[in-house]
Amino acid sequence: MPSFADFLFDAGLAIQNLAESLSGRALRLGVTGLSGAGKTIFVTALVQQLTLAARVAAQGGKNPLPVFRVHAEGRLVRGTIEPQPDDAVPRFAYEEHIATLTGPGGDSEKRAWPESTRRISELRLTLEFERETSFGRRNSQLSIDLVDYPGEWLLDLPLLGKSYQRWSQDTLEASLAPARAPLAAEWRAYVTSLDPAALSDEAVAQKAAMLFTAYLRACRAEPISASALPPGRFLMPGDLEGSPLLTFSPLPLTEGSEIAPQSLAGMMARRYDAYRNHIVRPFFRDHFARLDRQIVLVDVLAALNAGVGAVRDLEHALGEVLNAFRAGKNTLLTSLLRPRIDKILFAATKADHLNHVSHDRLEAILRRLTARAIARSEDVGAAIDVVALAAVRATHEANVGGRGNAALAAVVGISMAGERIGNEVFDGRTEAAIFPGELPRDPDAVFSGDMGVVDPRMADYRFVRFRPPIAQRDAAGMALPLPHIRLDRALQFLIGDRFD
Ligand code: GDP
Repeated sequence: MPSFADFLFDAGLAIQNLAESLSGRALRLGVTGLSGAGKTIFVTALVQQLTLAARVAAQGGKNPLPVFRVHAEGRLVRGTIEPQPDDAVPRFAYEEHIATLTGPGGDSEKRAWPESTRRISELRLTLEFERETSFGRRNSQLSIDLVDYPGEWLLDLPLLGKSYQRWSQDTLEASLAPARAPLAAEWRAYVTSLDPAALSDEAVAQKAAMLFTAYLRACRAEPISASALPPGRFLMPGDLEGSPLLTFSPLPLTEGSEIAPQSLAGMMARRYDAYRNHIVRPFFRDHFARLDRQIVLVDVLAALNAGVGAVRDLEHALGEVLNAFRAGKNTLLTSLLRPRIDKILFAATKADHLNHVSHDRLEAILRRLTARAIARSEDVGAAIDVVALAAVRATHEANVGGRGNAALAAVVGISMAGERIGNEVFDGRTEAAIFPGELPRDPDAVFSGDMGVVDPRMADYRFVRFRPPIAQRDAAGMALPLPHIRLDRALQFLIGDRFD
């Protein structure tokens, strides 16, 4: 039974949504994904493409976005960065990131991958374009607010519907999975030795929270887990680093257990509620519930590299992501007034690590990983699609073959200094051909084998990090957009319809 506070919260949201719809505001595009998935690179590349595309076309250059229709039809006139509407949200540091990516001061030798997303940020991009009407082409414009936020925060949304007892039970159960159990051992041993009904004790709470955080961090750092468990701020604290709001942990409780206010469980439950009320709800209300479209970036290759356990974990996490979208739909008022997110794109990033033979296979694997969740998601009320892309393409392709041998499909790029394959250590300067191996034709193969055993068909699959590509310039010396793979397809799905 929803409480009066829930009702007020929903009513506030509904009024906010209605007011924003009536004021003809910008399209809000959420960009999320777990740490390292590629959010910073995606937003940087997208902004670069859309601010340079029209100029490149005007100078007769090759169209880098053939599938993005408004541009392919020659109707995109200009893309400019504008001041963002929300003063309280940090601005996405586009200029800094593009300078790092292409080399500060135009010195391509110093090019590097920029710093990753650690908190929410925003950037407004306004696109001027021509709309086809029965009276000919008419000038029009669309503002897009790009909202980049950690996927770890998204996984918190299901907490809004879970009691402290229920969350404790779920989290302790999940920590028993074979891939997680060894990492959880120390924390489990400690909390299961505690009596939840004992008098509250700050030192005990701190130790439990510290061990719990260490367990969550280990799950992400060890390549056995490609996903994350809530609470997201334990991993991505944003501005809450060191805050007392983050000093709680699950205790051995089951749903419905009685909790006395003065007990250890009582203290933990109060902190859990404070976390939900002061962190999760405001994030939901101020950011998530205002999004119109969402791209979820997924580092599928990292999961494949880590083995079957990580792949299963990722499948579960993607289901949780879709649950988060459902969390926004389950209340009477919000669903009556305006279902917000109407398109969700799941994107497997870093496809440039693979030869194009495997791009469709990577897409098929992500489709397989999201299939079960998508099948359950009619009530999400959004169109959902899947793509494999590289927002920035750091490699090119070559077929390399010895005499008498069949040619092997390779990717060629400059590996980051210190990366290695076998005994070969890369110096960060020289181009090398790498045979990443082919992904399996049958997406189900990623699940075969026992937990933790890598499928033999993927055993020779290797993953080396490349340096960013060197930015090309046109005859007039102006920078051209960085190369990409299927970024235009993602754009067409996410925003293409708004130019028709
Ligand atoms: P975030 O934590 O989601 O913001 O992740 P980033 O966007 O910072 O990406 C993490 C790292 O992944 C980068 O530093 C790059 O090394 C790599 N990366 C991300 N996108 C691409 C891509 O399109 N191609 C290649 N080759 N590497 C990428």
